[in-house]
Amino acid sequence: MLDETHDGTLTSWIGSANAPEADFPVQNLPFGVFRRRAPSGAASLVQRLEAPRYDSDAASRMGEARVGVAIGDQIVDLSVAAALGVFDDAPDGDLVREAVVACEAWTLNPLMALGRAPARALRVALSRCLRIDGPDAPRARDVADRILVPMAQAELLLPVDVGDYTDFYASIHHATLVGSLFRPDNPLLPNYKWVPIGYHGRSSSIVVSGTPVRRPMGQRKGPDDSAPSVGPSRSLDYELELGVFVAGENAMGTPIPIGEADAHVFGVVIVNDWSARDVQSWEYQPLGPFLGKNFATSISPWVVTMDALIPFRVPRAARAGDDPAPLAYLDDAQDRAAGGLDITLEVSLRTAAMRSSGEEGVVISHGSSAELYWTFAQMLAHHTMNGCPMRPGDLFASGTISGATRDARGCLLEMTRRGAEPLVLPNGETRKFLEDGDEVVMTAWAERPGFQRIGLGRCGGAIVA
Ligand code: MN
Repeated sequence: MLDETHDGTLTSWIGSANAPEADFPVQNLPFGVFRRRAPSGAASLVQRLEAPRYDSDAASRMGEARVGVAIGDQIVDLSVAAALGVFDDAPDGDLVREAVVACEAWTLNPLMALGRAPARALRVALSRCLRIDGPDAPRARDVADRILVPMAQAELLLPVDVGDYTDFYASIHHATLVGSLFRPDNPLLPNYKWVPIGYHGRSSSIVVSGTPVRRPMGQRKGPDDSAPSVGPSRSLDYELELGVFVAGENAMGTPIPIGEADAHVFGVVIVNDWSARDVQSWEYQPLGPFLGKNFATSISPWVVTMDALIPFRVPRAARAGDDPAPLAYLDDAQDRAAGGLDITLEVSLRTAAMRSSGEEGVVISHGSSAELYWTFAQMLAHHTMNGCPMRPGDLFASGTISGATRDARGCLLEMTRRGAEPLVLPNGETRKFLEDGDEVVMTAWAERPGFQRIGLGRCGGAIVA
């Protein structure tokens, strides 16, 4: 349901939120986790790679990590704002207090555990504080220097402690094209139009945007090799995806019906499911992806709530006339009418040579989540039909988002047809797959006439040898 927060005419007293292409206008208000940057500057790339990941994250989070909301180029420190009474007169005060208590944490899991209602109430409270003539704006402006942290002075951390991670395969264009490369005679397997296909990923390798990605070692076997060899992957790829975080939970043995699934989707992030194609193609049969997929998966730092995305819901993508209708547990009038999400995504690539000559990255493909064959509600209903329990902060990714045309292919495997048709960049460089030093940046946004455009921010990472 649309409410006062979605009004396209709202502007904020924080000027940067009103820029035409701003990702974080007052209509967005995504949640994230940040810490103030150490005065000595960020750790070097080498220090970050060599630090034991678990220990450094835990230490930093327990000491300094805080839950915040993005507005323009600023972050609202929610605990400080609440302590200063900024939300005291908000409607639905009990829900707002519940949300604020959950935000006194170093992850968004406690907030996600409450379901969508407390976060929605806090969103309304924030809108009333941050919009230019909001009823609580004077109170927030009085303490602006205490509740706002410039993004330039903050480090954005992994926003969620992801317990379980499932990656789906919801783009039929991707499934058909990749299928044609791996199995020319049999591209789309017979289960595809019946079952939302997925695999269980590895949450320990989920990293926040900006984290360097080390080229993985593996057993590689190219299509023309007679035997596998061991070494760094020779066909490292990105996958352009959208991810959603689970809100609330379901008891083991109790499915989430499709009609209730939307209440269990908290919000979305951009996902880059880095993939080692030579490892993947050798290992994937018969049990599916394994080491070709679990060395790194990057996510964008700001979780854009499903409440912010209400104006951008669209009907579930139409199926071709001779496709089977979804089975009853995967079908629902609400999902048919508004189960889709109209988000545009874009991938840019910046090579080491481009960086050293001061060139910006170039956009190499784009995609739209509106074309996905399965909705996130269908994925959740399917995933829990056997009673599989979901926990707050579990991550579902869409699978590579590809469209029908070459410039809408969400990974290099598809774009270059497994290296057969290399990508030619404007500076003359070519790519079959990613080289060391390549930086991949994904961005995404939603727009619709009559509403304010909102962005998901960016999900970037550079390959190191
Ligand atoms: Mn994937």
